[in-house]
Amino acid sequence: MKDHKKNPKNKSRVLGQLLKACQKLIEVVYPPLCLCCQQRTNHLRCLFCQSCLEHLTLLDQEHRCTRCFVQIEHTGMCRTCFSYHPPFKRHAAACENYGPPLALLIHLQRGEAALAKTIASLMVMQHNKLDWPIPDWIIPCPTHLFPSFHPQGKLTRQVALEMAEIFGRPVCNALKKSIDYAYFGALDSKQKPTRFSAALYKRADLSDKALLLVSLNPDQEERKQACEQLQGFFPKEVYSLSFLSSSD
Ligand SMILES: [Zn+2]
Ligand SMILES: [Zn+2]
Repeated sequence: MKDHKKNPKNKSRVLGQLLKACQKLIEVVYPPLCLCCQQRTNHLRCLFCQSCLEHLTLLDQEHRCTRCFVQIEHTGMCRTCFSYHPPFKRHAAACENYGPPLALLIHLQRGEAALAKTIASLMVMQHNKLDWPIPDWIIPCPTHLFPSFHPQGKLTRQVALEMAEIFGRPVCNALKKSIDYAYFGALDSKQKPTRFSAALYKRADLSDKALLLVSLNPDQEERKQACEQLQGFFPKEVYSLSFLSSSD
């Protein structure tokens, strides 16, 4: 007679049923909640409820400047990009700065590291939708003076690494933040206490290469400064992609 207990097929079926039962138990004790509106979701693996999921969309290029992505009423470039050439070939954002995309960033900042992959996927999808060329190097835009000492200091780098894996391209920490001593004597209230400077290594590797600056939610001025610093490496072109659109 066949011993059912020793049959590996039976064993895996029992394990599968046990796993399902555990999952159901977890769902009862800790019901899966939407990251955005806190309503119950359909499944443990769903980040958002159906209604919020419908609002997780990529931004359209239509009615936006083809160079800096600012909203305009006509087609083509905005007036600023016409009169002043920005230090990047193209800039765009993947998602709007509210609702489900903002919830993703907030939860990443609270320590849910797995969301870096979700954010990176959305950014790569937007990169693909915009039909931009695959970059040679991916550069994370620094957010803190001493990233190792700040819990959120390495988030942009985590997202950049996830994007790099999808693109099959390397990441380079070409930029760092440093104190801007001009700030202490500045009369301009918009002056910031930090500025971007180039990290010393890899300078030669970046020349004549297509660079993609990755940021999560920087203001326009910071992004511009970071791109200006990247121009010091004499790249072929600099593209800039943010996860969220600028609030300013
Ligand atoms: Zn929801
Ligand atoms: Zn523009």
